[in-house]
Amino acid sequence: MKAIDLRSDTVTQPTEGMRKVMAAAAVGDDVFQDDPTVKKLEDKLAEMSGKADALFVPSGTMSNLVALLSHCQRGEEYIVGQGYHTYLYEAGGAPVLGSVIPQTLPVEKDGTLDLDKVASVIKVDDVHFARSKLLCLENTHNGKVISLEYMQKAYDFAKSKGLSVHLDGARAFNAITELNCELSDLAQHADSVSICLSKGLGAPVGSVLCADKEIIQWARRWRKMVGGGMRQSGVLAAAGIYALDEHVQRLAIDHANAKVLAERLLGIPQLSINKDLVQTNMLFVKTDMETATSLANHLKQHNIIIIPSETMRWVMHLDVSSSDVKFVSEKVKEFFA
Ligand SMILES: *Cc1c(COP(=O)(O)O)cnc(C)c1O
Repeated sequence: MKAIDLRSDTVTQPTEGMRKVMAAAAVGDDVFQDDPTVKKLEDKLAEMSGKADALFVPSGTMSNLVALLSHCQRGEEYIVGQGYHTYLYEAGGAPVLGSVIPQTLPVEKDGTLDLDKVASVIKVDDVHFARSKLLCLENTHNGKVISLEYMQKAYDFAKSKGLSVHLDGARAFNAITELNCELSDLAQHADSVSICLSKGLGAPVGSVLCADKEIIQWARRWRKMVGGGMRQSGVLAAAGIYALDEHVQRLAIDHANAKVLAERLLGIPQLSINKDLVQTNMLFVKTDMETATSLANHLKQHNIIIIPSETMRWVMHLDVSSSDVKFVSEKVKEFFA
């Protein structure tokens, strides 16, 4: 019996079709920039995002790191939400490896940064201060979609203050699925955008940074420095191309599944779910730690995997079908019955 793993959308297995194109991929040495399949993936995402260039990297963390290091020099700062991945979940990479200073702000309920608060932390040019250089946004954030109106407002605001904008679009395709727009409609409101192929898109490895030629040239150098220059990586890029061709349309299924699961669990008094926050492929389920732990144990017996916590994140993906969702809701109800 296959497990229903709700811990993350990173747990997907490469499909048969994906494994086939990986096995058949034409490859070269990408550090010499002669891997045709990597080039094809980079060209494809550059075009989709409306940027001049793109760079394939091993992970979203490395993509964000090389982006931050390419935008900011030593002693310059990036303004970032304190719950955003680029601050909280990247082991302090930008300050540790690049001497780039994070200026954090609380993230608003809708996943945005309040632009008045951003304005209040931008430093004047004075020897006492780090130089404010970059505004870092995230879309989606905790499954929440940031509107194009906000993105445009934030971008225009940043430009008016002389800041560049980096968008952590690890799940940008989930965002544009809900926004019902093209990737370029979103990416136009940032100078660089990082996209994960290994989340909802279902590739085993990889992210792509999209930006202008100068930023990508810098990013390529930083990628080499941090050990991300790969050789016959066309095998991995082929999975990414396949994911972009085959797995973007189906993201809507994950979003529908998350909504259905939330609806089915709404009547359980021990669980608290804010339906309005279920906008893409995740739902957040609140309870106490003891209940979460015994619920996780119960579900484990039925091959359903969740991480117990007071606020649990249950994530839909390629390997969770709508009948799986029905099965999960039945087992959760059974536990509380
Ligand atoms: C997963 C994720 C990343 C990083 O991706 P990895 O490939 O796991 O390093 C960056 N930003 C966000 C918002 C993510 O969810």
